[in-house]
Amino acid sequence: MDADLSLLKGLNFTCLEGCGYCCLFQPDVGPEEEERLNDMGLSWSITRSHFSGSRALKLQGGGGACIFLKNRRCQIYEDRPHFCREFPFHIYLGERAQVIPNLSCRGLWLSEEGNDKYLMPLKPAEEAAMPFVQRITDEMLDAPRKTMGEFHALLEKEGMGCPRPLLSDIAAALKEKLTDYEGIAAVLEFSWEYSGEPLPPDEIAEKLNGWAPETDLKEEAIEGARDALGLENPADLPVYSAEDLSWYIFQISGDRITRKRMTEKGPGRDTGSLSLEDVPLLPLTGEAKALLTDYIDTLIARDAFYGYVAYLLSEEGVESPLLNAYLGTLATAVLDLLWRTSMLMRFEGSGAKIDRRALINGIVFFDADILDAPTLGEFV
Ligand code: SF4
Ligand code: SF4
Repeated sequence: MDADLSLLKGLNFTCLEGCGYCCLFQPDVGPEEEERLNDMGLSWSITRSHFSGSRALKLQGGGGACIFLKNRRCQIYEDRPHFCREFPFHIYLGERAQVIPNLSCRGLWLSEEGNDKYLMPLKPAEEAAMPFVQRITDEMLDAPRKTMGEFHALLEKEGMGCPRPLLSDIAAALKEKLTDYEGIAAVLEFSWEYSGEPLPPDEIAEKLNGWAPETDLKEEAIEGARDALGLENPADLPVYSAEDLSWYIFQISGDRITRKRMTEKGPGRDTGSLSLEDVPLLPLTGEAKALLTDYIDTLIARDAFYGYVAYLLSEEGVESPLLNAYLGTLATAVLDLLWRTSMLMRFEGSGAKIDRRALINGIVFFDADILDAPTLGEFV
């Protein structure tokens, strides 16, 4: 069946020797795959997934890499589950099927980084992902379409709706604003305070041009960071794959953030800590702003991001308008990305401004997390 591949345009992909980052996500195994692995005598490798409650491959030490990863090499490479074959491409089902690249994979940034440790020839992402789309059938869309339909009917009933094309146009009209902190604060405050009907994009942009925000954005960023990085169990924290392919986790406790090495066997030793006060929101260079604008375009175009906003609204019983929830979630995501980027730079001791390279590192850290957010549709 047809799937939207537009998010893959302009990207190239190859897998990197010695990376293994995707082996830190516990891969689900479907019933046929479970049978296949059982036939190989590997039934000991299957457990309940830590994340989804379904069946999945075990993690080393309960919170490290997949049990089959040794020295960053897969021991069952030819027989690995489809999650591993398809990474960094995810198939998302909402009102349609869409292939979403996971930008935490450094194999999608190779033309930027010039890394030559390729495990396979570099090829256009569309070509690399095409074979995976073929397993999607029309029937698989029945349930997510029904869920989205019910959500839209509820929005309509509560008078909280906004057509998605208009929502995307409004967000696109505000994307330049979201590349500086005053603009992010203005969009956030607008999302909290605006109570009228959705207006045309240029009228909303106009309103925001005259907005003088009062929010303490650093406080706001730290609150957001605590949600993602304040978890007690280090094994639950997101992993950052550094440029040299070493892995780190960052844990917030009280008013400090600690960096730990992540190993195949799980969280390892501490490698430094900072006071949260010492993480500034660093300004962006022109090149970094251009990349951030592209990334915001990506978020807007992702059905899973729309599904995330829909999920948040559904959870609260659709008490606020879709427009407000969407803009607020987008601004919060950008703020989280920029705080994490600034934090990575502080640990590296590098630079006073976020440049393109630093922002790529921030996206590498952030993207798997935003893709892991709950959503009304489903990844298959
Ligand atoms: S994260 Fe990307 S580059 Fe790294 S092992 Fe997985 S597919 Fe390969
Ligand atoms: S089966 Fe292999 S490729 Fe898949 S997560 Fe485990 S080690 Fe990685």
